[in-house]
Amino acid sequence: MPKIEIFKEFKPTEDAYWRSIILYGNNTASYKFALGMALLDLIENEQNIVSLKDLSPIFAKYICEHLNVAPRQTTNNSSTFLEACKKYNENIITTERLIDITEKNAFNYVLDKFPIVNGRIIPKPFYEYDKRNKQIILTDNSFKLKGIKYFNDLRKETEARWKLVETAWELGISTNLLQVNYSKDNYSLYIDTSFRRKNITSVRDALNGYQKGFCFYCFDNITIDCDSEKLCDIDHFFPHALQAQRPDINFDGVWNLVLTCQDCNRGNNGKFAKLPALKYLERLHTRNEYLISSHHPLRETLMLQTGSTEKERIKFLQEIYNFAKMNLVSEWSIEEKREKGF
Ligand SMILES: [Zn+2]
Repeated sequence: MPKIEIFKEFKPTEDAYWRSIILYGNNTASYKFALGMALLDLIENEQNIVSLKDLSPIFAKYICEHLNVAPRQTTNNSSTFLEACKKYNENIITTERLIDITEKNAFNYVLDKFPIVNGRIIPKPFYEYDKRNKQIILTDNSFKLKGIKYFNDLRKETEARWKLVETAWELGISTNLLQVNYSKDNYSLYIDTSFRRKNITSVRDALNGYQKGFCFYCFDNITIDCDSEKLCDIDHFFPHALQAQRPDINFDGVWNLVLTCQDCNRGNNGKFAKLPALKYLERLHTRNEYLISSHHPLRETLMLQTGSTEKERIKFLQEIYNFAKMNLVSEWSIEEKREKGF
């Protein structure tokens, strides 16, 4: 009798293994990303045996570039290699010295750890590390990557993930709050910053900087001090209830979150799941644009969520607003406690 199959075996392809490393491999420093970028360079140039000496300039280049934009590249305190990169950026040491220090110090852990995901070496590693001869040998799996249709996207995805980790480190929040998802539509990763509802509180600090201690709607005083009675609520501007109808929109995204007083959010005339009036939509747009134009750490995230140009972002908000209005019908507003708050 033939066996009836209920479940089908799923065999991940090379790019799936790559993504699992980039997304779920350990990172206490950004070495993983620099190695990922360097490997993509080697794959592109079809180099298969590469000495650590030759790998060093490629690897160090990526770290130096990132250090220029994001000074925090590790959760640890010190690293001989990172210090050398900083000195190189400040013209204190030469390229030769940097490469020398890189070769001796940068690869101690990263080459062993790169292929490990959830405590295990992935079934199809991308290189073998020949410690005795101080070289790596790229495997066939690496070159199979080059054959996939979306090979060039891997570079963008690795960069995107790296930036995301930098953002999380800079804000002092968990990378889990800045989720990267896989889009089946275009086979790429995207950042959606699902500040999950249970962890949403860590976004308070970031948003209060803009709101300066005032409620988003009524400008009453609020605080982010968890022990205070005046502790602010985190409000979904467009009610979270819309999520079920629009799974394509991330209503938990920071673009849609504002800090409010408890009264506005859930008092007698509270907003609850109502749609804020149009003037508040302008206020939300102004807030998002400010964070983007001031190069706030959430800039990239906001742009990925709502559009890369202001025109696109206006269109995005208008579209969601129209959709919300159609579904929720009436608008909510409240008397302001002072003329202007922020
Ligand atoms: Zn209020």
